[in-house]
Amino acid sequence: MSEPLLQLQSITRVYGKDSAEVRALDGVDLTITEGEFVAIVGQSGSGKSTLMNLLGCLDRPTAGTYRIHGQDVSKMDADGLASLRRRTFGFVFQRYNLLANVSALENVEIPAVYAGVRQSERKTRARELLARLGLNGQEKSRPGQLSGGQQQRVAVARALMNDAEVILADEPTGALDSGTSRELLELLEGLHQSGRTVILITHDQKVAARADRTIEIRDGKIIADSGAVPRSKPCFEHRTARTSPSFILQLTESIKTAFRSLRANLFRTALTLLGVVIGVAAVVAMLAVGQGSQRDVMARFEDMGANLLFVRPGGDRGARMRGDAIATLTLEDADALGELDNVIAAVPSRSGSATLRRGNADHRGSVEGVSEDWLLANNRRVEYGTFFTAEDVDRRVGVVVLGTTTAGELFDNVSDAVGEYVFLSGAPFEIAGVLEEKGASSFGSDQDDIALIPITTGMMRVFGSSYLSSITIAVEDTDVISTTESEANTLLLDRHGTEDFRIRNTASILESVQQTQNSFSMLLGAVASISLLVGGIGVMNIMLVSVSERTREIGVRMATGARRSDILVQFIVEAVVVCALGGMIGILSGFGICAILVNLGTSIAITPLPAILAFSTAFLTGFVFGFLPARNASRLDPVRALSAE
Ligand code: ADP
Ligand code: MG
Repeated sequence: MSEPLLQLQSITRVYGKDSAEVRALDGVDLTITEGEFVAIVGQSGSGKSTLMNLLGCLDRPTAGTYRIHGQDVSKMDADGLASLRRRTFGFVFQRYNLLANVSALENVEIPAVYAGVRQSERKTRARELLARLGLNGQEKSRPGQLSGGQQQRVAVARALMNDAEVILADEPTGALDSGTSRELLELLEGLHQSGRTVILITHDQKVAARADRTIEIRDGKIIADSGAVPRSKPCFEHRTARTSPSFILQLTESIKTAFRSLRANLFRTALTLLGVVIGVAAVVAMLAVGQGSQRDVMARFEDMGANLLFVRPGGDRGARMRGDAIATLTLEDADALGELDNVIAAVPSRSGSATLRRGNADHRGSVEGVSEDWLLANNRRVEYGTFFTAEDVDRRVGVVVLGTTTAGELFDNVSDAVGEYVFLSGAPFEIAGVLEEKGASSFGSDQDDIALIPITTGMMRVFGSSYLSSITIAVEDTDVISTTESEANTLLLDRHGTEDFRIRNTASILESVQQTQNSFSMLLGAVASISLLVGGIGVMNIMLVSVSERTREIGVRMATGARRSDILVQFIVEAVVVCALGGMIGILSGFGICAILVNLGTSIAITPLPAILAFSTAFLTGFVFGFLPARNASRLDPVRALSAE
């Protein structure tokens, strides 16, 4: 007597709960030994498929014990069952259950993929099996291109791929015509001859008659069993059991599958990609714009020089708003500040606007009363003529130095201006010189629209009062600029008795500009990240759709031995592949947008960081947003997945 291969003891399988309860199997005892050819018959709904699913470890009993080779499988976890399915069982279904978008050869290979067989070995064996089943030349055909009989033979080849000891066939001829059915039965008989255990479910008495043993089920109970036939044939030699696939193999297979399923749905893939591409491109382009503008502003500020202190009237904001504190800085303050250590010059300034007139031409622009040291503190040069002198300031002479914009409004030829006279607030001023052109400031104002006059003259003839708008202090040694700043502060406090002024240095201005710029960049980055997030949600959405569409495929993969982790990895990899692909295209598009913006005159700074950041974010997005759908897929119940439409 052969050892029992499969042994069911008081197996019960109940579907549903309470009033909706269905006892699909009700206390079934059954022992099947190696090498048997068993037919299970019974009416539709009698519990045949339920029994088959339990035998093949696709499902678990509600009660009772099931032993395979004496080992109790009720204590095994999902992965243990997957590995049993992979090694022991080969399924043949009524509906074939082939994967529609891969070739016959690849369909046959699937169980070996999950068993960790190398690709070359897999291909050879799959080809052999197809040839043995009369499917020579059909390796590359998709299931849709094959007849029902051919598809079922592909399914048999798949069942044999891992050298299954037990072939479980659930109404395999149900969808075939009688001629093809006969061929398939001969095929199964042949497998039985070679020593395999074959368990066949059928409606058809003639089919059942070809088996050695017939078991009849009704309402979940075995009502007839013709009994085991003593066996004379050689027992099936199982080849060495394989281990689980290595992670690398699992990953490469998953990536291949991912590309295949992405290709199968090109339009959808393209739309999903688009979401990620837009997100990544936005991050790359927006950060480049942000950094470009920051770089520009910085460059202009650095040009201004780091050795300056600015004194302005007004202490607290309230006083400034009321206008109380405007009239606090005087020329004497400037002179006193000029006496401090480390100070090269303290340049008083009073600015306003006025109309300059020469003949019929006039120009309204900015007029600034300053001292002779203005050039030094402002890093400017005179192009034609000279600047006014200390003596001019002392003697309140009516001289003016013009910026090129102002000079250009009044003279056809800027170089002709020197020595000529212009009227400013009704008084004549001699033009001493014209400044070298400077261009727009970082705030966009024209730095050449200016007329400089001695501060003393300005107070008397133009501004009508003797208070200053600001004092600019140029220091010698910038390392001790903060000491100079506090000395200036003490000095002015002494003179005024109250802090009705503010002192700032270039560094602190630079810092606040930098802060503004940073928050600008952050804002752009945030906007871009939101679009990346939207792209990620799109990926999740499409993955959820994909999982529910491919439930059958997931069931087939599980039936052929895929573990939960195989399914999980496969779907995560798909999401990651979409996102990574979208990330790469997005970076290229981002650079493309940058190139267009540069042509349009926008200032752009391309650094590798945003691209790297955007790509890794996209990659991560794939993981995060792919995880939920993938987990849903991996937690599917194999039986339900297989019966999904
Ligand atoms: P057969 O294969 O003999 O036609 P099944 O084993 O498929 O019968 O079904 C046996 C009984 O269990 C039927 O009454 C069927 O309606 C019920 N059944 C099968 N699967 C489920 C399920 N997933 N949920 C609820 N009832 C089920
Ligand atoms: Mg059935």
